[in-house]
Amino acid sequence: MGLSLENIDVFYGSVHAVKDVSLQLETGQILALLGASGSGKSSLLRAIAGLEASSGQIVFDGEDVSRLPVHRRGFGLMFQDGQLFPHQNVGQNVAFGLRGRIPRGEWEGRATQLLETVGLPGTASRLVTTLSGGQQQRVALARALAPRPRLLLLDEPLSALDRALREQLSVEVRRIVKETGTTAVYVTHDQDEAFTVADQVAIMEDGVIARMGTPAQVWAQPGTRSVASFLGYSPILGAEEVAAFGVDVAPGSELACGPGAWSVADTAGEGAAVQVVESHAVRGAKQVTVRLDSGKIARVNLPIHTRVSEPSMRVKLDAGKCAQVTSGPIHT
Ligand code: ADP
Ligand code: MG
Repeated sequence: MGLSLENIDVFYGSVHAVKDVSLQLETGQILALLGASGSGKSSLLRAIAGLEASSGQIVFDGEDVSRLPVHRRGFGLMFQDGQLFPHQNVGQNVAFGLRGRIPRGEWEGRATQLLETVGLPGTASRLVTTLSGGQQQRVALARALAPRPRLLLLDEPLSALDRALREQLSVEVRRIVKETGTTAVYVTHDQDEAFTVADQVAIMEDGVIARMGTPAQVWAQPGTRSVASFLGYSPILGAEEVAAFGVDVAPGSELACGPGAWSVADTAGEGAAVQVVESHAVRGAKQVTVRLDSGKIARVNLPIHTRVSEPSMRVKLDAGKCAQVTSGPIHT
């Protein structure tokens, strides 16, 4: 049950945008498709929606929808630009997709209910153009959910909003989608947003799913050097480089350093000496940039009042805040 993709390919002429993607998503779960710009997220989402021609099989709750037109798949869509009708009021926008699905007499009640769900009670008679950007995206979400889609597909729904609003709304979107029990695929290039919204995260790289799992699994075991690097692990060190800090890695693996992996060594025997490049205050802490023997850069956080005047300092590496990765792709 839920969504099942088998061997999905999308081509634009000679551009192979989605390469043999297969995945499963259980009913009621939210999947984030996360990746850099151009990695194929929108192409895959549009293929699921039926907006883009694709090969392979798209099955929802046991029904093969691969050859069905967009409107027969029973999926809801929401985009970065909510594509609301400016000449209609909020209630009419929300009721847009209800035609032919529920009797006209029930439209208003359904719209009122959805507007409450998305935190905009009492706005049905307002013109959409009088709402803020964040409020308009809430209306777009209400409109997408109104026909009770069995699968909701969202493409960068919050990307046009500023970071603070995006953080707040990503929590809200998760609550609302969960509350309505809707299965969802959510495209974003922002890992914080993906990790906030999703039950499952799939990281896309150059048309393939490089890694898929729960946010905690993907973070703890990024699998490959490129996924680790995309998630913000830095630096990524070889066996020789970490040996200097008394840390081992498995043969053929590298160590990707996560936040807080580096700290000051308390005793002379601990850790190793590194070159201090510069230091500055970051959010109530002092961040020291250091250069390892190999030339790679690492960041060490210290209490803000610590004085760092030496050209070099001793630092240690906490392997528990790092991830072992391979340099080649792993497809799971
Ligand atoms: P993302 O959503 O991850 O940014 P896209 O799915 O939009 O990535 O694009 C994946 C690849 O397909 C990119 O190389 C992009 O340039 C290409 N592409 C996307 N849409 C088209 C199109 N309509 N025609 C030709 N190439 C396209
Ligand atoms: Mg896109």
